[in-house]
Amino acid sequence: MTTRRQLLKALAVLPAAGSIPVALRPAPAQAAPSGDGSQAMAWRNWSGLQVAHPRHRAAPKDKDELRTLITKSQGVIRPIGAGHSFTPLMNTDETLVSLDRMQGLLDYDNRTQQATVAGGTRLFNLGRELEEIGQALPNMPDIAEQSLAGALGTATHGTGAELGAMPAYVEELTLMTADGSEISCSRHNNADLFQAARVNLGALGFITAVRLQNKPAYRLEKTLDWRPIEDILAESEQLADRHRNFEFFYIPFSGWGFVDMQDLTEAEPTATETTDQNEGLYTLQRIRDWLSWSPRLREFSMGLYMRTLPTEYSVAPSWETYTHTRAVRWNEMEYHLPREDGLKAFREIRTLIEEQFPEVFFPIEVRYIKQDDIWLSPFFEQDSISIAVHRYYAEDHRPLFEAIEPIFRRYGGRPHWGKLHSLKGDELAALYPHWNDFLEVRQQLDPEGRFLNTYLRELFDLNGA
Ligand SMILES: Cc1cc2nc3c(=O)[nH]c(=O)nc-3n(C[C@H](O)[C@H](O)[C@H](O)COP(=O)(O)OP(=O)(O)OC[C@H]3O[C@@H](n4cnc5c(N)ncnc54)[C@H](O)[C@@H]3O)c2cc1C
Repeated sequence: MTTRRQLLKALAVLPAAGSIPVALRPAPAQAAPSGDGSQAMAWRNWSGLQVAHPRHRAAPKDKDELRTLITKSQGVIRPIGAGHSFTPLMNTDETLVSLDRMQGLLDYDNRTQQATVAGGTRLFNLGRELEEIGQALPNMPDIAEQSLAGALGTATHGTGAELGAMPAYVEELTLMTADGSEISCSRHNNADLFQAARVNLGALGFITAVRLQNKPAYRLEKTLDWRPIEDILAESEQLADRHRNFEFFYIPFSGWGFVDMQDLTEAEPTATETTDQNEGLYTLQRIRDWLSWSPRLREFSMGLYMRTLPTEYSVAPSWETYTHTRAVRWNEMEYHLPREDGLKAFREIRTLIEEQFPEVFFPIEVRYIKQDDIWLSPFFEQDSISIAVHRYYAEDHRPLFEAIEPIFRRYGGRPHWGKLHSLKGDELAALYPHWNDFLEVRQQLDPEGRFLNTYLRELFDLNGA
């Protein structure tokens, strides 16, 4: 069997004409003087792409402190979670407020399998806390750094053709709004606000509490299997219907990818993540550096290697199985497409990358998500396939994303709110039947636009307002 080390050793003797040697390294540290001459510490998002110099940063310890901050501060005030969005949703040079000190389980009921959780709660804390009361989230994204409110704000999702995105499991939500008052909403109480607030881009106020519809705690068995991409594409729809959670990754320029299938089990837990995905990226980058001058040799070498990779199997509590640690940083574009068009779009994207972007080495991720009824959810009345493309954070992502976005748009895709895209105003209104309803709710709650930064004003086309 060819090991990763053997593969790299073999490749090292090949000529590296046309290579792009960039060693994977961590993102820059957060420090820079502010533009106004003060020494305000720069704020950066996870990838380092978004930078702002807020004059005031705060992490209130309770609702009273949060209310004082909202009512006594001047100008724009933006809520921030873990800063894992790639879009400038959180950027402000005025007041940036984290609810990191307002975390935890507030209440629960095991008859209904519901739990009320503070908005600032990080998902990595939530998994364990819910397990202790015998509950679990129905699904999760592939990392657990996010805050609950931040994840809801951009319609964060996992994978599973019969599973909605995270906001689809919200039963009730409490917001602290621009005048410092708290409003709760559910399907039966302030129903319009509930439709607007479950996916709200932080544009309505601070989410302080969320009642979630959970499941009894469960384990998942996970199988990860490497296959030729044509086999994956031929089977993808059936696999998505057969497995509770199914997704696949394609490794550009290899002809190969892997499928990740997860199902409920009573089996005893095994060791969890056996593939070091960060090491895997390093390998792909090295192969790109050495072989991007010869796509055929690159495909041949990677295919040779990938066919030797063993199938992996593991069992763990659901919240451990879903999420991973990501040490390598990137920028990302992800669109959600009607399920029936997703694989067609994937084929076009693959061709485009392999014909025009030899420098790409990050896998393309393809997931399934069930539709919901939330006004600004990208899954509004649309069973979806999501396709995500990535560029290493230190490389220019723009040419790739600008080339791919027209494909996503041609298939009627809706962008992930937290990932890079170029859509604004009318383009978004055309994708969301309740766009204007959302804007009306926003206007009623925050007529002075305290929660609107420059990006949101452009997004909502409110600059003339
Ligand atoms: C490595 C990585 C992996 C990812 N994996 C996935 C994935 O598997 N699936 C997926 O769908 N997405 C994924 N994402 C995207 C990520 O889940 C979203 O961008 C999410 O919104 C980030 O949550 P956060 O807590 O960092 O929120 P932030 O990015 O800090 O904020 C997001 C939005 O929420 C608002 N907000 C934050 N807190 C509050 C609050 N208390 N009240 C009201 N509004 C608030 C902010 O104002 C902003 O508009 C990933 C991102 C990264 C960097």
